Formats: sequence, C-alpha cells, structure tokens
Amino acid sequence: MYRVVITDCIEPPAVVEGNALSDIATVECLEAKSTEALRGKLVDANAIILYHEVDLTSELIRELKQCQVIVRGGVGYDNVDLKLAGKLGLPVCNVPDYGIDEVADHAIGMMLNCLRGFTLAERRFRKATTLLPWDRHDVGKVLRTGDCTLGIIGCGRIGAAAALRAKALKMRVIVYDPYLRPGIEKVYGVERVGFEYLLKESDVVSMHTPLTEETHHMIGAEALAQMKPTAYLINTARGVVVDTSALAEALRERRIAGAGIDVLPNEPPSLDDPLIQLWQADLDPPINLTITPHTAYYSEAALMEIREKSSAEVARVLRGEQPWNVVNGEWLKRE
Ligand code: NAD
Repeated sequence: MYRVVITDCIEPPAVVEGNALSDIATVECLEAKSTEALRGKLVDANAIILYHEVDLTSELIRELKQCQVIVRGGVGYDNVDLKLAGKLGLPVCNVPDYGIDEVADHAIGMMLNCLRGFTLAERRFRKATTLLPWDRHDVGKVLRTGDCTLGIIGCGRIGAAAALRAKALKMRVIVYDPYLRPGIEKVYGVERVGFEYLLKESDVVSMHTPLTEETHHMIGAEALAQMKPTAYLINTARGVVVDTSALAEALRERRIAGAGIDVLPNEPPSLDDPLIQLWQADLDPPINLTITPHTAYYSEAALMEIREKSSAEVARVLRGEQPWNVVNGEWLKRE
C-alpha cells in the first residue's frame, strides 16, 4: 500500500480520501500548523495533499524520497516550490474548479457589505449604550449599487463569476487582465480597460489574480492613491497582492472608503499586522473594514469537492495514469 499524507487543514479520520484511495493507499493527516512542523515527516510519503496553512519549501521537497505527486487542495499554488519539484520530476497539481461560486459570492458579499454599510452600522451599535440615532447617518454615504462601477482585476474563473453576479446587480463592470483572450470580454458583457483607468473609474476594485512576481503588491500606495476617496477594495485572491501597510494607511487617513479582505500576507496574522491593528482599533467614525479568515472558498459542498478531486488526482498518479491539473509543466518538460 502507498502512503498518502495530508499536511494541514484536514482532521483525522480522513474518511473522504480514505474511501477514495482505499484499494491503493493508507491516508494520514498531519494537521501541521506550521511549515517547520513538517520537517522529517514527509520523507517516505508516496503522495502529498496540502492546503494553505503550510509551505512546501525547497528544503521539504528535497527531503522527499518516494513522492510521486504533490496535490494542492485548492486553486493557488504559490506555497509550493514548483520549479524545484518540476526539476526533480515531481508533478504539482491543483484543484482549479472547486469553489468558483463560493469565492465569487464572498467577493460580491463583501462588496455589498461595503456599499450598504452592514457591518459599519453594526460596529457602532453593538457597543453603544444607546441605539440612537438609528437612522441613515450610521451607514455613512451610500451609493446606489446599480450606479456603481465594479473593476475586476484578473478576469479568470472567479473574476468572471464575480463579473456576472455584478451585472445582475445592474453594475457597470470593467476588467483589467493582460492575459485575457481577445473577445472574451464580449462573452461576459464587460469592458476591457487599462490598469490605471480601472483604478480611477471604479467604485469597487476586486482582486482576482494569482500571486505572481507581477501581481505582488500590485495594489500599493501608488495604486491606492489613484482610487476614488469613495471607493472600496476587495481582496479574496492572495494577501500579498495588496500591500497591507499601504492599505492600512490609506484607510486610516480615509483616502479610500473601505475594504473587504479575506486573505492576508501571513495567515494567521499576528496582532501587530497594521491592517489587523486598524481593524481592532476603536475609531470614531469606525472604518468600513471587514476581514474574514480566508474563508471565501468554503462551503461544505466545496470542501467535499476539493477533497474528492484531490484524492482522484492522487489516485490517477499512483495508478500510473496522467494527472489532469499539472501546474509546474513548464519545469517538468525540461527533465
Ligand atoms: P484563474 O487562473 O482562473 O484566473 C486568474 C486570472 O488572473 C487569469 O485570467 C489571468 O490572466 C489573470 N492575471 C494573471 N496575471 C495578471 C496580472 N498581472 N494582471 C491582471 N490579471 C492577471 O484563477 P481563479 O481560479 O479565478 O483564482 C483567482 C485567485 O483567487 C487566485 O489568487 C486564487 O489563489 C484565489 N483564490 C482564493 C480563495 C480564497 O479562499 N480566498 C479560493 C480560491 C482561489
């Protein structure tokens, strides 16, 4: 029997993976909370499934002696050293299609929360000794959603799903994505624009790019300075796509109107993270900032889907078949 290791996020017993792989492998959950906790524990694993709480660093990949495949149970694979794995002949795969609707719902939910001021009013009332004035002044200045422009940065699977939802809310949708196939914007009924135009024109900017060298700190002080003072930023992509220190400063100085953030540079964040400090601060008026703990992907159905699809990918490789979603093919081919 092969040994399949699930590094993080999934608690034992791994019933879903165990059932899917019962004829070929035993499955073990390590429940690691840090990358360091994995040292020495993966040496004889024949396949690894990892989530987002740990990194498969070059050191850990060099320890692998039996591994045939690494499956990232999720979309983003920036926590795996793809190049080294590829050079060692090890395919890295992801599950690109499990939670598209969930993340799009989360981004649109955060956008509506910003625009309608739900948690903003809540923050004030919850700790107040009196619930007065109990009127529109508690939600700040509210724009009509249908009059707003949503700027989507990265119009792939999730970005497009968010765009279609926003169109149902009667919003104008503009997108910036240099890699979008020409004409796809017509399929979605959105306008394709440049980066700076999107920043200046949008009432809400929503991030949907992968984390790459190009997208690292794509929204920093300079980009934030180009946004309208009434605009909101939503990030459900990856934490470091946004420079969170610059965002905290822009929010504190009220240079943009608010933000909805699901992903942070370090997760879980430390209490001295500038955005966490601002979020916890007791300011009057409160800042329209909502943070969720990387839950955009989550629904019970989506989690089940990732687990089943990750197991199926592992099973294909262990049975000698081709994996479906290899993300380091660029380096594997050079072998
Ligand atoms: P995708 O690959 O389908 O789409 C990404 C799009 O970004 C592509 O169209 C690509 O052309 C575009 N892009 C790449 N570089 C760009 C750049 N420099 N500027 C503008 N656009 C660029 O990916 P997806 O499945 O839609 O996922 C989008 C993001 O959501 C990823 O970062 C992923 O990790 C993240 N995600 C987060 C969660 C969560 O729980 N918060 C869950 C799933 C996915």
